[in-house]
Amino acid sequence: MSTVITRFAPSPTGLLHIGSARTALFSWLYARRHEGIFRLRIEDTDRERSTAEATKQILESLEWLGLKHDDEIVYQSERKELYLERAQHLILTGNAYYCNCSRERLERVRAKQMREGIKPKYDRKCRNKRIQPSLDSNVVIRFKNPLDSDVTVDDMVQGRVVYANSELDDLIIVRSDQSPTYNFSVVVDEIDMGITHVIRGDDHLNNTPRQINLFHAFGYQLPIFGHIPLILSPQGKKLSKRDNVEGVLELRNAGYLPEAVINYLARLGWSHKDQEIFRVDELIRHFDARNIGRSPSSLNPKKMEWTNQQHLLKLPPKKAAELAEGFFLSRGIQCEFPSLEDVFEVQKTRCKTLLDFVEKSKYFYEEVNEYESKAANKFLTLEIVKPLQDLRNELEEVECWKKKNIHLIFTKILNRYGIKFGVLAQPVRVAQTGGTVSPGIDVTMELIGRQSVLKRLEAAVAWIESRKWKVKKRPVGRFSYFLIGTSPH
Ligand code: GLU
Repeated sequence: MSTVITRFAPSPTGLLHIGSARTALFSWLYARRHEGIFRLRIEDTDRERSTAEATKQILESLEWLGLKHDDEIVYQSERKELYLERAQHLILTGNAYYCNCSRERLERVRAKQMREGIKPKYDRKCRNKRIQPSLDSNVVIRFKNPLDSDVTVDDMVQGRVVYANSELDDLIIVRSDQSPTYNFSVVVDEIDMGITHVIRGDDHLNNTPRQINLFHAFGYQLPIFGHIPLILSPQGKKLSKRDNVEGVLELRNAGYLPEAVINYLARLGWSHKDQEIFRVDELIRHFDARNIGRSPSSLNPKKMEWTNQQHLLKLPPKKAAELAEGFFLSRGIQCEFPSLEDVFEVQKTRCKTLLDFVEKSKYFYEEVNEYESKAANKFLTLEIVKPLQDLRNELEEVECWKKKNIHLIFTKILNRYGIKFGVLAQPVRVAQTGGTVSPGIDVTMELIGRQSVLKRLEAAVAWIESRKWKVKKRPVGRFSYFLIGTSPH
């Protein structure tokens, strides 16, 4: 059996869109599954819309995803000679011809066809004229598309699709400025690169009969085609900028793991039994193009987050720490103490992305300068001052700063004041983290470290005492306090 050679052929006119990333992934998986070769071709013939920056971002995105290509990258912009030479070959073999019809004439023909209700097409005026180009003439090269019979696409994903040649135009293959057109350069490249399987978005399905005719004209065996459905927005529409998850690099910046993005993209439109979470090597093992669905799939941000979380949970803490550190540092937060690995271990079940982890873990590394106002109003009250002070003093004396011992002190204070766990835990949490969500309060304090814990308890007490309280005598004889300007609850 011959070697499978697939390719990914992006046009560098923008970010690597999540839909294109999935196309790349399926091509890559197919090659890896069959121990074949995955090649990369940058389709940058459109000099106006292609940018070096977009090429750079595409390469960076593929690298981040781990979709490594084999062989040298092919840049179409460097192959003009080859395309011209192949176009000459088609002219010599009677499969292409020069056309010098003026734009005005083409427009007249088109307008007439429209008036007559005929599908606009070149009327093939120059097809048999054997025009020779002269230096000053504005000629293009057109392909002699067969006039009758059908073109059949036997697609790995879409099944059999048949097109009538009578519907197809004599398409321009080289423009008057000598640049090749998409359908032509693609076929020349597939042949030159030895591509055996063309896996791409189904927005290209309509180009395929034209390309198949070109393959035949070159006398080249057809590759196998697989046109995969588009990815739609969560609302089932074409993906747009507003969907916010467009670029692969944006996912990286939002703290997604590449293996999770790969997993999620693979599952969009492809399935293997009812398995949801795959390692990359499992995807390679199970990938079968016949299991790609034909209908478009919609992005589901919640599921993408969930998939990411499943991979985060499996990530070795050391690796997670390494990855998260970059996010902390880029926010100007040093994370020498406590160890990021330890913080990750206690936080990971509540984090969807690395960024989420960082946002939820800042208080381990930064002073708490502000309290969430609702939490502070509810929990940092005058009644809790004494228990907080006692807790602070007893914690100062703990010999071994471990969660178990912290817990013992905590219980001691609860018993001393006859209060329930939450009555003390929530104010302490607000003091230590600024809010009401954290891992167990004992382990949180262990990780924050004694010195900071004591300082934060003192700061909370000072904060409470600095507020203006009004004392209200309750009928039963106990006092209660409420803030001036707020109503007692
Ligand atoms: N360059 C085309 C695109 O980015 C893909 C062409 C192909 O895969 O044949 O849409």
